[in-house]
Amino acid sequence: MKKPVFFNTEGRSLAPFEPMSGDTVRIYTCGPTVYDRAHIGNLRAFLFEDLLRRTLKFLGYEVVQVMNLTDVDDRTIQRVHDTGKSLDEVTAPVIEAFFADLESLGIEPAEHYPRATEHIPEMIALIEQLIEKGYGYEAEGSIFFRIAEDSDYGRLSGFDLGQVRQGERVVSDDYDKEDVRDFVLWKAAKSGEPSWESPWGAGRPGWHIECSAMSMKYLGESFDIHCGGVDNIFPHHENEIAQSESATGETFVRTWIHAEHLIADGQKMSKSLGNFYTLGDLIEQGATARAIRYLMLSVHYRDKLNFTLEALEAATGALKRLDEMRFRLGHAVETHPGESTLKAAADQMLESFTAALASDLNVSEALAALFGLVREVNTAIDSNALAAGDREHVMSALARVDDVLNVLDPESWRTDVEDEGLADGEIDALIAEREQARVDREWSRADEIRDQLQAAGIVLEDARDGTRWKRQ
Ligand SMILES: [Zn+2]
Repeated sequence: MKKPVFFNTEGRSLAPFEPMSGDTVRIYTCGPTVYDRAHIGNLRAFLFEDLLRRTLKFLGYEVVQVMNLTDVDDRTIQRVHDTGKSLDEVTAPVIEAFFADLESLGIEPAEHYPRATEHIPEMIALIEQLIEKGYGYEAEGSIFFRIAEDSDYGRLSGFDLGQVRQGERVVSDDYDKEDVRDFVLWKAAKSGEPSWESPWGAGRPGWHIECSAMSMKYLGESFDIHCGGVDNIFPHHENEIAQSESATGETFVRTWIHAEHLIADGQKMSKSLGNFYTLGDLIEQGATARAIRYLMLSVHYRDKLNFTLEALEAATGALKRLDEMRFRLGHAVETHPGESTLKAAADQMLESFTAALASDLNVSEALAALFGLVREVNTAIDSNALAAGDREHVMSALARVDDVLNVLDPESWRTDVEDEGLADGEIDALIAEREQARVDREWSRADEIRDQLQAAGIVLEDARDGTRWKRQ
């Protein structure tokens, strides 16, 4: 089993990774706040987490992943106020759309999706523990965390505790570093707001305590990896550490991994700039979820991802190269009598691909290895150098790669093209092959391809600038 190296946000350094117990990696990933449809910036973090979990499994580990759904917090409550709907009416359609997005993007489901509203007793119990140990105190019906009691507060985000405004309080779920004060664990109910009974009267949990309670319930007091976007580092994750460790006395998380922001057209996404995209918007405009997945995976998670329509087009082109190679390979004949060269090339690709991903998910190098093989396969086909077993060997290496990437179009795997419908990439590849056959004056092969396409309901029109096709 290849041991990976990850960049731990805590300490800001690369470190060899080893699970705490056996081969099982326990991961908590902060999920969506379900007050509004996710945009592609949110989805980037979830795609990075998918790459992480698939890589760990590829390397031979078992994964237990928990992704929470924040279905009560300041923003969902605000939406309840604004719309006059119930909390459930606000969150239910957003949750449904969220899971649909994950599915479209080929994201492997987590093992658990706990909802905050279904874990209120666990949050109350954790707050009681904090009060008992002197970290939690009551003020105006709400409960706050006293950060002056927590001597290593700030160790994840790395700021000086001396700067902290002690004894003052902040009630909002989200705030910036200039506003480091005692944060809220439990908020007293305001009239008209959804609330739950507690030892301190009716109220609702703060956002941070939700994740501490749900992660420890499903993964234990200490677990391996906690992920999120870089905007979660402060205050959310800093506060999760403070709450969890002050309550248990144990190290909460061994490795913190954070994905950088996505920007669009070089700027922060915003509705007013017209560069705000949801997955649904992009698909409506003709993009494929597969190309969006590829694009988002192809940029290293610690680099900002600049989403542009040109980049999406380039991703579509890269996938087309993969499809065409696989189609050609599926139809090539293994007539070369000598030793196979592609077996070694495929093995070498897998080795480089694995090493790259194990090195802090170095996806650029992993993809470079993959496309190196694409070139070798194309060259081998062009020079009739395929030996017996080459096709199967390369195909199985590609299938291994796709356990992680999950971008290869299953349509293009098929070789029974005469019997059923053809994918666009397959048609293009056949037309290219037919044109080559005509250049080479192999008329019977050219006619054969034409007949094959006709049988599949594809009509060809030979024009001066090439061959066009349409479906019947
Ligand atoms: Zn969280």
